[in-house]
Amino acid sequence: MIVQKFGGTSVADPDAIRRLIAIVRDTREREGRGPAVVVSAMSGVTDALLAIAALGGAGRFDDAHTRLQQLRERHLAAANALTSGARRDSVASFVSGQFDELEAVARALGVLREVTGRTLDAVGACGELLSSRIIAAAVEDAGLPATWVDARRTIVTDDEHTRAAPLMRETTAALRASLVPLLDAGRVPVLGGFVGATRDGITTTLGRGGSDYSAAIVGAGIGAREIQIWTDVDGMLTADPRVVESPRLVPRLSFAEASELAYFGAKVLHPSTILPAVERDIPVRIVNSRKPDGEGTLILSDVDGEGQPSMARQGITALACKRDLSVVDITSSRMLMAYGFLRRLFEVFERFRTSVDVVTTSEVSVSVTVDDRRHLGPISDALSEFADVSVESNMALLCAVGDPLRTDASIAARVLRVLESVPLRMVSQAASRRNITVVLRQPDLAGAMQRLHQEFFG
Ligand code: ADP
Ligand code: ASP
Ligand code: MG
Repeated sequence: MIVQKFGGTSVADPDAIRRLIAIVRDTREREGRGPAVVVSAMSGVTDALLAIAALGGAGRFDDAHTRLQQLRERHLAAANALTSGARRDSVASFVSGQFDELEAVARALGVLREVTGRTLDAVGACGELLSSRIIAAAVEDAGLPATWVDARRTIVTDDEHTRAAPLMRETTAALRASLVPLLDAGRVPVLGGFVGATRDGITTTLGRGGSDYSAAIVGAGIGAREIQIWTDVDGMLTADPRVVESPRLVPRLSFAEASELAYFGAKVLHPSTILPAVERDIPVRIVNSRKPDGEGTLILSDVDGEGQPSMARQGITALACKRDLSVVDITSSRMLMAYGFLRRLFEVFERFRTSVDVVTTSEVSVSVTVDDRRHLGPISDALSEFADVSVESNMALLCAVGDPLRTDASIAARVLRVLESVPLRMVSQAASRRNITVVLRQPDLAGAMQRLHQEFFG
């Protein structure tokens, strides 16, 4: 069985959804059954919904209403373009019902003047609920036996709102009860990504970009043969195409390389996607929905073991970058690095539920990068109780990933040589030794990326 996930731009409008239908039809003809389809919200919709929640919470109901009206029209137009007859009526009434509820929520938020994670999830989840319902109907209207599956009854999560984690045992049971019978009956289940619910049925979301993760959870739950991530680029590229002009396609990469690239900023894949795939050893393929004949990028557990040609022959498989980071320097004021210092330090980040990406340490100081700035003020205050603290924002991280870094020391040296004229704030190579990561000032990022890309892929 194949699981196909279509991202926001791949379901952005009726034309994109028609391309999706053609891809699903082709797959079905080739495979004889399935596929299971997971879809994102139409592009821009999740951002818009979260903005609407913020407007509601700020008491700006008129602005929220205007934006809801635009979204309502966009979804109704898509539903009308893609479905007909009784099916059109039923989808249109679902869409209208969702927007009526959203209007009521936006109004209630204005009264409460408080937007909680739980409310953000209830609002944010609507993008995927709407798109999946419309797409299921559209696929059926095109003559394929599709069935809409409500992700809130299928993906069971903890209650960490806005970044919930799936409970795999419950989720697998729910998938076996809902999806597997549909697939066995020759149908095409269509469900929204990103969305789940707690055991008590409270709506949750898996974190931004989480539809990839949903696809992997579904793939693992039903024991898929391959998980396909259909998106707007040809696959994993050697660098972020918004930073480096014409990066190259990476045809194959290992799970370990993919997960480091995703973690360090290659947005094309949600960092958690790889986990369920690794556990079940299910290949993940990234493909372009505008060029369905391309091979895309195939992510496998052991690229070299298969004797496959890997980009990593060139030393580096790909580059990734992350912007808008803050570097926190913590210098021990009263002591050299006594034991217990690191524990105290990381307890502060834990208390404020803020994760750190890169860590470097010297005799008396520790530097960490943080991309969630929400609690930086209180974090600095708490750290200041036992250390000198300084925070520098507008920083970026650049990460070169490749399995050969593990065995060939000259590659890291080459990376640093290319960057010799760039002031580096931190340099790190973690235990995996599969990446070398530098932290630099954001204005230096694009130049540094381009130079490194030229060196390894130019
Ligand atoms: P989707 O909506 O399909 O999930 P995303 O916007 O989440 O798509 O991810 C695709 C985007 O990721 C691309 O359009 C590209 O700009 C960006 N991206 C960043 N780094 C990379 C990379 N190394 N390879 C491919 N795409 C990348
Ligand atoms: N729609 C969600 C987001 O924009 C999830 C996704 O598209 O993967 O974050
Ligand atoms: Mg995405």
